Amino acid sequence: MSKRKGILIIVSGPAGSGKGTVVKELVDSHTGIELSVSATTRAPRPGEVNGVHYHFIDKAEFENRIANGEILEYTTYCENYYGTPLKEVKQALARGKDIVLEIEVDGAMQVKKKMRNAVTVMLTPPDGETLERRLRSRGTETDEVVRWRLARAREELALIPKYDYSVVNEDGRAKECAELIYSIILAEHARTKRTKKIIKKFI
Ligand code: 5GP
Repeated sequence: MSKRKGILIIVSGPAGSGKGTVVKELVDSHTGIELSVSATTRAPRPGEVNGVHYHFIDKAEFENRIANGEILEYTTYCENYYGTPLKEVKQALARGKDIVLEIEVDGAMQVKKKMRNAVTVMLTPPDGETLERRLRSRGTETDEVVRWRLARAREELALIPKYDYSVVNEDGRAKECAELIYSIILAEHARTKRTKKIIKKFI
């Protein structure tokens, strides 16, 4: 059997969509799927490990990597750079692994332009009230920050039509969402554009 090529899957979703939990569930329960570790200039939060949650680097190093073409896409968010290391993505795909990029909308659109076969998924909260409740329930942010995050979330959700798929994350349903995204990946592997070699066996 010929080795199948990996697929690049982008999962976006605003703060309050539950994206982190869903993506973790997806990669933890399916060994063929890897998570791309982004580079960022933001400081690590308590419990975050360099090389696991992010590659934490400084601004000069980040800009150097951009100049050297080592970053597939990047954006600035809350005055910090966030970007996807190109080499890791290429290596995973070459090994036949599916690779998930958990990135925001600007980056997602950059990747879609460069890699037309990438699959984009937007994870959404079920409705505006749930979104606001989830953002407020963290309890760690000021009212101003919550309002800013809500506005930013609405901007991101307005881009749903640009995505291939949208998946609704109801409260307590992270596992089901992860399985739905897994089904999308399986279906994408069966697309005729990805299985052109099969025809050669018959004609
Ligand atoms: P946080 O600081 O909460 O970890 O991430 C902030 C935002 O940056 C999230 O929406 C996250 O998905 C996004 N993000 C993380 N890594 C990348 C990346 O490599 N590229 C882009 N474009 N966005 C990223």
